Amino acid sequence: MLKKVLIANRGEIAVRIIRTCREMGIRTVAVYSTADRTALHVRLADEAWCIGAAPAAASYLNQAALLAAARAAGADAVHPGYGFLAENADFAELCAQQGLIFIGPSPEAIRRMGDKDTARQTMLQAGVPVVPGTDHLIETAEEAASEARRIGYPVLVKATAGGGGKGMKEAADENELRRVFPQARQEAAAAFGDSGVYLEKYLQNPRHIEVQLAADNYGHVVCLSNRDCSVQRRHQKLVEEAPAAHISDSLRHRMEQAAVAAAQAVQYSGAGTVEFLVEYNKFYFLEMNTRVQVEHPVTEWVTGVDIVALQLMAAAGDTLPLLPKDIRVHGCALECRINAEDPAKNFLPSPGTITRCRLPGGFGVRVDSAAYPGYTIPPYYDSLIAKIIVWGRTREEAIRRMQRALGEMEIAGVQTTAAFQLAVISHPAFIQGDFDTGFLTKHPLEF
Ligand code: ADP
Repeated sequence: MLKKVLIANRGEIAVRIIRTCREMGIRTVAVYSTADRTALHVRLADEAWCIGAAPAAASYLNQAALLAAARAAGADAVHPGYGFLAENADFAELCAQQGLIFIGPSPEAIRRMGDKDTARQTMLQAGVPVVPGTDHLIETAEEAASEARRIGYPVLVKATAGGGGKGMKEAADENELRRVFPQARQEAAAAFGDSGVYLEKYLQNPRHIEVQLAADNYGHVVCLSNRDCSVQRRHQKLVEEAPAAHISDSLRHRMEQAAVAAAQAVQYSGAGTVEFLVEYNKFYFLEMNTRVQVEHPVTEWVTGVDIVALQLMAAAGDTLPLLPKDIRVHGCALECRINAEDPAKNFLPSPGTITRCRLPGGFGVRVDSAAYPGYTIPPYYDSLIAKIIVWGRTREEAIRRMQRALGEMEIAGVQTTAAFQLAVISHPAFIQGDFDTGFLTKHPLEF
């Protein structure tokens, strides 16, 4: 059993992790930048340490400061949350060298899954179908053009180190590919410090369906159902639901088996997600996220399983407290991400002070947020301010409940995406389940 966990993160996910630690009798250490002195995670943790200046590079990405805080506080483990250092194998290794448990899979598993091109190769070897594309990194436009002739247009040039919907460039034909290829490499080097790119077939409006897994250090892997995260803006998820509706049992079963094979191929431990693209009843491995994901609460609700608790148990060396047969899916859960952004200004971030904050509640509503009245959203980090999660016995009931919850919500002082999200989940195509990753292109919502 872990005794004291340092949470190397901020915002709603830090609050989320503190809550489960408290329920499990584990003491918590928050860390914060100078911009986050008054943040909710700082108030809720048992103790809090300032680790540096506002820019993430000086604080939440500052490995030396994080490790020094962990040592000084006497923590025995570090939970990285998502983003920041969550998929940084070097940091996981450093933690181990300092005698700290990194709450996540081994550095080897992170390395084999964190780099998209390596992950594709690993999956091919494990017999998991991947999106058609190249089987190695591509160096020149000439090589790209010859590979694309084989794959067929349109293609995507993808950064192997990419993430967060960034580092992808589409090419409809060879002229476009020759033009975007050098840009893609340069941009990847600038954004991710790695110019490696590869090609994938650009699927026409697939659905994004992912499988949630949990594993322990002894080779047991449990599949915690799946999620549909197809409603996206610029390749970034907006609305997520569990379980994915409108897929056949046979497809669901094959995807879950492939996800378990993916985890076993890298001796995975902890919580992880295998992401797939689905088109014409076929699925293709996209990537594996070796951490807790933003959308994990929808799965918690339909399965009744606390995913952060499973992470803490796996890290402590416990065997998984569940067997695959224990997992039952009950009803439908939806999540809307509410960002401090202005939909009328092309989703420009809208940091500032929240002057009024009424978050929804009532039966079947969960709010994961670090916002409160008077809280000032700093401009340095991502703009997620609240996740509204609802549960219903059916998808229809969940949608009606989400409409009610979003209608109840009031945040003043900053612009938010709440009204935009209400329009998304009230759109007839969303209600009918007739959507894919091209939803917002097909149905541009006016704001
Ligand atoms: P990230 O790590 O940045 O989230 P992913 O590879 O997981 O990137 O892809 C994010 C989203 O981008 C997918 O959910 C999908 O909408 C789109 N996408 C990625 N690859 C493809 C592809 N080959 N064809 C069509 N869409 C894609």
